[in-house]
Amino acid sequence: MSGITIALSKGRIFEETLPLLAAAGIVPAEDPEKSRKLIIGTNRADVRVVIVRASDVPTYVQYGAADLGIAGKDVLLEHGGVGLYQPLDLNIAKCRMCVAAPAGFDYAAAVRRGARLRIATKYIAVAREHFAAKGVHVDLIKLYGSMELAPLAGLAEAIVDLVSSGSTLKANNLVEVEQIMSISSRLVVNQAALKVKRDLLQPVIAAIEGAIR
Ligand code: ATP
Ligand code: MG
Repeated sequence: MSGITIALSKGRIFEETLPLLAAAGIVPAEDPEKSRKLIIGTNRADVRVVIVRASDVPTYVQYGAADLGIAGKDVLLEHGGVGLYQPLDLNIAKCRMCVAAPAGFDYAAAVRRGARLRIATKYIAVAREHFAAKGVHVDLIKLYGSMELAPLAGLAEAIVDLVSSGSTLKANNLVEVEQIMSISSRLVVNQAALKVKRDLLQPVIAAIEGAIR
């Protein structure tokens, strides 16, 4: 496909991405929250946006179905980043990855005892690495959503999840017991496209870089 295809997800990333695209002279023709279209044109005839699930963005870019994409560091770590060039931290959709447990659970004591903990998470790769580095024995339980429910329902002792304000944890009587890393969204570029379509892509990347400084 000639021209540029950009993979974006709906929600907070899309909203925070709009000003960055505008700085590169790219304005989507429709709001994906209102439209059911999955391919959205822009003010530029040679630029289109594809709307995908947040965790699918790296896959579209890896295989060249999109030239550019914007994805959270959380998603990129789980994907592994194969075939992706990651030139820019966009400093948007900021939050942190943390371990959270019910308010009454003494996580630190359980770790000291060497207890084997059940950890429910969508972020298996990050969680595995985190607990391995600490030497904590865990059984990782893969979930696809609402991690907060797992400790309340007795599925796990703790969760690994993203937190920004902390209000969802609080509403479910969970507390953050460990911070794992800061998360923000990154620009990802297909490595082959960067060579073949350099004349088209480089100005867009440079304009986005200018807009985040
Ligand atoms: P879906 O909602 O379709 O299951 P998702 O949960 O991965 O997918 P979003 O909730 O839109 O999608 O999150 C997209 C990205 O936004 C995440 O990958 C992460 O980088 C970032 N993010 C998620 N939760 C938060 C949060 N609480 N605060 C700030 N950024 C967040
Ligand atoms: Mg979500």
